Amino acid sequence: MTIRQLRNYIDGRFEDGASTFDKHSPVDGALIAQAHEASREQVDRAVAAAHRALPAWAALPVGQRTDQLLALADGISRRFDDFLQAEIGDTGKPVSWASQIDIPRGAANFRTFAELARTLDMESYMTDTPDGRQALNYAYRKPLGVVGVISPWNLPLLLLTWKVAPALAFGNTVIMKPSEVTPSTATLLAEVAHDTGLPPGVLNLTHGFGPGSAGEFITTHPDIDGITFTGESATGAAIMRAVAPGVKPVSFELGGKNAALVFADADFEAAVDGTARSVFANCGQVCLCTERVYVQRPIYERFVAALAERARALRIGWPDDADTGMGPLVSREHREKVLSYFALAREEGATVVTGGGVPVFGDARDAGAYVQPTIWTGLPESARCIKEEVFGPVCHVAPFDTEEEAIRLANDTRYGLAAAVWTRDLTRGHRVAQAMKVGLAWVNCWFLRDLRTPFGGSGLSGIGREGGRHSLHFYTEPTNVCIKL
Ligand code: NAD
Repeated sequence: MTIRQLRNYIDGRFEDGASTFDKHSPVDGALIAQAHEASREQVDRAVAAAHRALPAWAALPVGQRTDQLLALADGISRRFDDFLQAEIGDTGKPVSWASQIDIPRGAANFRTFAELARTLDMESYMTDTPDGRQALNYAYRKPLGVVGVISPWNLPLLLLTWKVAPALAFGNTVIMKPSEVTPSTATLLAEVAHDTGLPPGVLNLTHGFGPGSAGEFITTHPDIDGITFTGESATGAAIMRAVAPGVKPVSFELGGKNAALVFADADFEAAVDGTARSVFANCGQVCLCTERVYVQRPIYERFVAALAERARALRIGWPDDADTGMGPLVSREHREKVLSYFALAREEGATVVTGGGVPVFGDARDAGAYVQPTIWTGLPESARCIKEEVFGPVCHVAPFDTEEEAIRLANDTRYGLAAAVWTRDLTRGHRVAQAMKVGLAWVNCWFLRDLRTPFGGSGLSGIGREGGRHSLHFYTEPTNVCIKL
């Protein structure tokens, strides 16, 4: 097998890095790629190139600029299989998931923000003036400038393009740094940008790590105009410190410890299926995944048994097998973290309803990063396993009696990203969803997305919202123009 070389893309050219780092498959541990770590000098040149490209890119008529975004979307669709293999190779996620979610959404992000940029209206007011006349106020929006995009490993292409697309659509130029754990699809995106003739410097790619590497070089760079970041809450805090001296705007989409509330009147099968999906999808590695399930007492025992049945029925397997329901975690390192929570849960007094260990295959996958889908009950609400994000295929299920209690339990967290409410009583569905201290509340569904809606969280889950015109607000700066008439 050839070891793919993943290079940096700076000012329209692919460049080796000062050093390389290895990318191993989470399926069997095999070496699959080498990424070229960008030096500080390379990040400096990427930022300088982005500044040079900015005026012309920002001045392009919006129709021409968004045509280039549509070309990027078409380029992803044309190389669908390359992106699919790269995504699966980096993450081990099942082909059924990557082919329906990650790669189509990568293209859809460019299409959605191209359309939004083309159809934007403008905020304006007619203002009465003291002399009986009027003034016209309008907020003229200009690009923020050179934007640093730092993304995580769980949905690498989807989350990268979720930020690159609006940044470019609204006239910014970009330095992107994908996670060191999943460097492949970003490299393909740079190839697509190159092949579709995106002007040099508009979209730059630098590979590397966080501290002492490309992540830090970008966030501490004096000429970066804003940082948009998806990843862990602790990393968000570090980036906030890094940008503080320059008072740069940040947009943060961080971790979660999301609750699902299942009321006794819910459509039982739909609630079990939806909750199983929300716990185990992508091996539990979606920021929106449910890790705390609260079930109304009359159906509690039955629900736990049915959820455990779904967990046991999940086919854990090779990612490119169409029947695989769950692949490995993203890496052996991440598996160490998840397994440490499996051990901690036992110490904290959990009953392990199902899972709690590592599957044995008797083949090459034993060198991968697989874990069993896992369900706990019986933990006190103060347990660390109830408070801290695990980011694996695991949840704790606890009973509740009243709606008030369910709301209190769900909101008893420092995170504030997502919640799911399952009930046939839609009045209660609205009421409980509105009471959730989260950015996203789903009723009788989960991870159903409209890209125009505000996306993000509060508390430890982030700062700001992106999506639709919320992205416009982050990626542009308004100048209010007031004209006396
Ligand atoms: P991470 O924070 O470890 O890494 C994310 C990115 O930040 C990587 O590119 C990494 O190299 C970079 N980085 C790390 N330290 C840095 C530093 N000091 N300065 C600059 N860059 C730095 O996150 P991860 O482990 O890749 O992703 C998983 C986390 O992301 C989970 O907590 C998950 O909940 C969260 N997440 C949130 C959302 C959301 O929309 N809210 C979406 C997906 C993932």
